[in-house]
Amino acid sequence: MTVKATNGAALGSAPTQAVVQKLQDVDASKVVVTLAESLKPVPPPEELVFGQTFTDHMVMVTYDPVNGWGTPEIKPYGPISLDPASSIFQYSTSAFEGMKAYVGPDGKPRLFRPELNMLRMKRSTARIALPAFDADELLKLIKKLVALESRWIPNLKGHSLYIRPTIIGTRPSIGVRASDHAILYVICCPTGPYFRTGPKPVSLLAVGEQVRSWPGGTGEFKLSINYTPTFHPQQLAAEKGYDQCLWLLGEDSHITEAGAMNFFVVVKRDDDHLDVYTPPLDGTILPGLTRASVLTLAAAHPGQTTLPYLPHTLKLHTHERLITMTDLFSWHASGHLTEIFLVGTAAVVATVGRVGFGDKVLEAPKCEGGLGPVARALYDRLTDIQEGKVEFQGWSVPIDA
Ligand SMILES: *Cc1c(COP(=O)(O)O)cnc(C)c1O
Repeated sequence: MTVKATNGAALGSAPTQAVVQKLQDVDASKVVVTLAESLKPVPPPEELVFGQTFTDHMVMVTYDPVNGWGTPEIKPYGPISLDPASSIFQYSTSAFEGMKAYVGPDGKPRLFRPELNMLRMKRSTARIALPAFDADELLKLIKKLVALESRWIPNLKGHSLYIRPTIIGTRPSIGVRASDHAILYVICCPTGPYFRTGPKPVSLLAVGEQVRSWPGGTGEFKLSINYTPTFHPQQLAAEKGYDQCLWLLGEDSHITEAGAMNFFVVVKRDDDHLDVYTPPLDGTILPGLTRASVLTLAAAHPGQTTLPYLPHTLKLHTHERLITMTDLFSWHASGHLTEIFLVGTAAVVATVGRVGFGDKVLEAPKCEGGLGPVARALYDRLTDIQEGKVEFQGWSVPIDA
């Protein structure tokens, strides 16, 4: 029996004319927009529960190994139908981002340092061998989506539109290998302040046996696989009356992160200025945008910018260094520990009130109004920059409809 290939090349021999096709990258200029037939009612801001209400539309682009990235779509929000053998279901090939759009005083939506989210998403995608994409083009699609959904952004202090760009592997095979099919999509949900009734200190249970990340692992990437193993310890912490887990690592019980936020501690120096410590980006820490922004703002005070409420003579010395539980307890015992706080896009800044560690409990200094002094200064300054009320280094990027 002879088998003829349709292009005339005999099986097993090289085709006479090699067709080297360049795979398509994401091209935002080609986006096809299909509007929803009816629009959902936007719930009153006070009824919003984080992550439960989604807007009318989503961005979607699919990748296949023959054509590369297809035509981007903005289409009605809705279910995705996938083969049950898809890589995402079997091997959890998924990376995502978390970013927010805010309404500025001019009524325009704004994003906060979005190019950093795009860079991080490229790195996360590469770590799990999903197809690469042009991050600038993805950002253009996100801007188009946000402009279309701008009626969903509550025009209130502390409110925003949470944006969740996601990439999943959709190779329909259970063979254990990289997925050469993918879907890139972006969904959005309107969100109120993390602490609806005003900031309140969070409690942390230090967990060292079940670890969030480890050297050489994937802790520095925003991958779905990093969160799944945290759900059980998180349940145990909640049963013991704690809000979040404080993730420890190593024999020295050093602190990596808490919940899904970066960790900071403020220590009073002998010269009455403050040291602001956060763990270094050693591969086990998610490189948060809020973390980077907090380090910049703190180091800039009072020379290049002055943070609200803090004395103009106060210096904040920032340090990226290992912090052990022993450090934490000894700073506390000597009376030098002034604040512990957590940072991330969702809550922006949250003060820590209590840390449980084995049979010991550390009670952080009491603070007025649920935020410590440095935490409050950073929270107010960051949200003012995000909401376009204070300009700082071009961090807030307006979206022109
Ligand atoms: C997203 C995330 C953060 C915070 O990052 P931001 O860019 O500031 O939102 C911190 N830790 C973990 C584990 C995260 O997933």
